[in-house]
Amino acid sequence: MSFTPDQPRKIGLGITPSPSPFLTPRPERRRIDPRGLECNSSRQDKDREVNVQVILRCRPLIDEELRLNTPKLISCNEQRREVTVLQSIANKQIDRSFAFDKVFGPKAQQRSIYDHAISPIVNEVLEGFNCTIFAYGQTGTGKTYTMEGETKSKGGDLSADAGVIPRAVRQIFDTLEAQKADYSMKVTFLELYNEEITDLLAHEEHNKSVEDKQKKPISLMEDGKGAVFVRGLEEEIVYSASEIYNLLEQGSARRRSADTLLNKHSSRSHSVFSITIHVKEATVGDEELIKCGKLNLVDLAGSENISRSGAREIFQVRAREAGEINKSLLTLGRVINALVEHSAHVPYRDSKLTRLLRDSLGGKTKTCIIATISPSAHCLEETLSTLDYAYRAKSIKNKPEANK
Ligand code: ADP
Ligand code: MG
Repeated sequence: MSFTPDQPRKIGLGITPSPSPFLTPRPERRRIDPRGLECNSSRQDKDREVNVQVILRCRPLIDEELRLNTPKLISCNEQRREVTVLQSIANKQIDRSFAFDKVFGPKAQQRSIYDHAISPIVNEVLEGFNCTIFAYGQTGTGKTYTMEGETKSKGGDLSADAGVIPRAVRQIFDTLEAQKADYSMKVTFLELYNEEITDLLAHEEHNKSVEDKQKKPISLMEDGKGAVFVRGLEEEIVYSASEIYNLLEQGSARRRSADTLLNKHSSRSHSVFSITIHVKEATVGDEELIKCGKLNLVDLAGSENISRSGAREIFQVRAREAGEINKSLLTLGRVINALVEHSAHVPYRDSKLTRLLRDSLGGKTKTCIIATISPSAHCLEETLSTLDYAYRAKSIKNKPEANK
């Protein structure tokens, strides 16, 4: 699979029926086979600002914490877009506030987060841009709940617990159907663990043991021009939302089964679910203009994997000195920081995750980080570390009271 930006140039389209087993007949539409297709829409030339959005979500106390009367130390002010950590330990008082682009408190519903923060990004993807949404935070704070949540739909209706991915899939299909567009879509789902890539959708591995599945890394390659692609990654061509939900469920189940086998595997790995959409825009002479956009949805490894010294040192610690698991998280923070600061050097090459996502980070793309925290007093250190990381990734200006 290519992770390189497609060059804007006009090409003729080979529209052939796809042999994909997932194809459902759509007599009213022409089906576009995305394989070998190149984007040639001029929209890719649009001049745009680097756009990085940092969102904070604080989950509610969960049942076990309520049972144990766990004290809370977080208060969220959604209007002021501010989070405050307040705690007295012995004779030391902690009182720090952090500002973000958006703040969602414990009562925020999945739908509200999607409608306010994610839906505009998905519209950009449909316009032909590459966008990436990350969930970043300590294990147990709601990254997977936020990204996936309940992926099963009842009679076509999404559950109230459905997370970003099922909602994005729904929005994409609803929009394309409403536009009566000729389109095609392909999906990949991979996992990055210890800087090794595993394909969560690989077909030929179905009858192998979980151990074997975990052992089959695929490689990140560079072509002669420095473009990055993943060799050996399965691309599933899909024509309905339910096919995507099934693939998501299949890949997630693979991650969960690895969890029972390898202690806390999923908390130490990143998963990247990518949807690439090709839409026919217009016909010019005998050529067809195709716009294509890609949406990457990334459930990052638990932020507790960053050194206990916390995010304060993130931007000083050299990536090479950090462990393999930390490397991607640390580099991601630096890459986003470099993009926001318009630095001449963006250290994409320092980790596999950032190399992999290079065509969807910076430049003409939108990036969103959803930082997740727990309100529990027991998570103080990790919560401060997450807030520091998210805040420092994008020092949000015009808030003098922030980060005091
Ligand atoms: P992570 O992926 O960060 O390790 P999970 O998404 O698995 O965390 O969430 C941990 C637990 O908290 C799960 O039981 C999940 O259902 C619950 N949870 C997380 N966020 C919320 C939320 N906003 N509302 C209700 N429950 C939540
Ligand atoms: Mg998780």
